[in-house]
Amino acid sequence: MAEHFGNNGKPVFDKPKVELHVHLDGAIRIETVIDVAKRRGITLPKSTEAEMRDLCTLKEPSTLTEFLGKFEHYMHVIAGDREAIKRIAYEFVETKAKEGVIYVEARYSPHFLANKGVDPLPWGQKEGDITPEDVVRLVNQGFSEGEKAFKTKARSILCCMRDMPNWSMEVVELCKKFSNDGVVAIDLAGDESKNCEACPGHKKAFEKAVTYAVHRTVHAGEVGPPSVVREAVDVLKAERIGHGYHTLEDEALYKRLLKEDMHFEICPVSSSLTGACNPDFKKHPLIRFREDKANYSLNTDDPMIFNSTLNSDYQVALKDMGFTEEEFKRLNINAAKSCFLPAKEKEELVNQLYEAYGMQKSTSF
Ligand code: ZN
Repeated sequence: MAEHFGNNGKPVFDKPKVELHVHLDGAIRIETVIDVAKRRGITLPKSTEAEMRDLCTLKEPSTLTEFLGKFEHYMHVIAGDREAIKRIAYEFVETKAKEGVIYVEARYSPHFLANKGVDPLPWGQKEGDITPEDVVRLVNQGFSEGEKAFKTKARSILCCMRDMPNWSMEVVELCKKFSNDGVVAIDLAGDESKNCEACPGHKKAFEKAVTYAVHRTVHAGEVGPPSVVREAVDVLKAERIGHGYHTLEDEALYKRLLKEDMHFEICPVSSSLTGACNPDFKKHPLIRFREDKANYSLNTDDPMIFNSTLNSDYQVALKDMGFTEEEFKRLNINAAKSCFLPAKEKEELVNQLYEAYGMQKSTSF
C-alpha cells in the first residue's frame, strides 16, 4: 500500500494541472512544524523529524476518527501565530508549483487557525490576538507572495465545520468580505452524520452564500450516505461535491448529478487511507466516474497526513485504474471549467490548459 505514496517517482502527468480539493492545514511541511515549535518554545510529542512524520501520517487504511486525530499533534503549533500562518500559505504555493499545479483552491477553517474571538478555542490554545479575519488576511498574503515567487495561483475556500454551526455565519461573512481578495467559495467539512436539519446554522450560512453570490462546495458522500449528497445539492445549493463516492449507491441521484454536470472532487489516496472507500483501487468509485465521463478532478485532500503528493493520486489512477494521458487532460480541463475563479480568469485558465495540452478549444471528449 505505502509504496504508492510518498514523494518519490517521476511525474505521471508532467503537464500543467489544476487542484480543487486540498486542505491548507493538512498540507503543512513537518519541517515547518518543528521549526515553528522551536521558535515558540512549544514541546512537540516527538523530538525528531522522522518520529514526528511517523506520528502525523496514516500509512494503512484507517478510520476517519484516527485521521482527524492527526491534526491534534501539530495544529496548536501553527494556530495563533502570524508568521507561521503566512509561512504555511507561502510554502504551500511553492509545493504546488513543484507538483506542476498552475491553479489551486486551498481550503481551511479560519477559526481553526485563530486564537481570538473563537468559541470554543481550538487545540487547547491560550487566548491571543489573531481573529479568523486576521487568518484570512495572513493566508492571502502568503498566497500572493507565493504566486509572485512561483507563478502558481492559489485561492481560498473557507470551511464551515459540521460540528461548529455557530461559526458558520462568520465564515460566510468572511467569504463575502474577501470575495474580490483571495477567497472564492465556502465549504462544509467534518462529520457527515451531523446533518443540516440538526444544525440550522449551516443552512442559514449557505442561504446567505447564495444571496451573496459566494460559490459553494460541500464535503458529502465521502463516508456518509447518498442522502448527505442530496442535502448538499438541494438544501445547501452546492455547486461541487467534495468526494461524493457514496453517491453511486443511489443510482437515480447519480444519474441526475451526471445530467446536471455536477463536479466531483475526487481524492483517491485519501479515500483509501481514511477508510472512505474500499482500499482496493480496482473497485474504486473513480472507475465508474471515468467510464461515465463524469465531471471530476483528482486531488490530494491532506497530503501531509497521507505522506503523499498530487503525483501519488495520479500514480494510483495510472497504475491501478489504467488512466490514459487523454483522461488526465480531460479531467484537468473539467477542473479548470469547474473552478470558482471569476469568469474571465477561468477562461484564461482553461485556455492555458488547452494550449499546454496542444488541443483545440473545440475538442469534445
Ligand atoms: Zn476534504
